Amino acid sequence: MQNLKLPITISPSRSAQRRLVCEGVFKLSDMTRLLATCEERSEHVQVNVKFDVDERGLTVMSGSASALVALTCQRCNELFDHKLEVEFTFSPAKNAEAAEKIPSYYDVVELNEDGEVNLRELVEEEFILMIPLIPRHDIEDCSADADSVWGELPEELEKPNPFDALKQLK
Ligand SMILES: [Zn+2]
Repeated sequence: MQNLKLPITISPSRSAQRRLVCEGVFKLSDMTRLLATCEERSEHVQVNVKFDVDERGLTVMSGSASALVALTCQRCNELFDHKLEVEFTFSPAKNAEAAEKIPSYYDVVELNEDGEVNLRELVEEEFILMIPLIPRHDIEDCSADADSVWGELPEELEKPNPFDALKQLK
């Protein structure tokens, strides 16, 4: 995938008239509110977004975004990698009155005074909503003691010692 930098703000209505399709990246390090809850593991946030006009004449921006972060497991306190993936379908509105007319199958995004939306903030907010309230490893990956793994040997002890194999070669 190409790492084309996306514009941070964009006019949905102008983009929709051109049926614009964007595919590119934001820098994950710029998403500082998100990074207050997790650590960055990928340099980029991959985003693709498509602008269109629906049969009612509403502007629609839909797409997906993904990035890799690390969360702290609340059971064992260790970091683990977590892929953030979101899909979105927004219809922009100038104000609350206009927002009420947007059907509920779209999420509403408010336009700024220039008629633009901040695409990076939009993606960042979607990511923040995807961060689990209590991040935890899958039970089989977690190093903390749990009743279900009690009595089993830790994985390290079950792996063959590579030095034993070397000894046999000699
Ligand atoms: Zn854990």
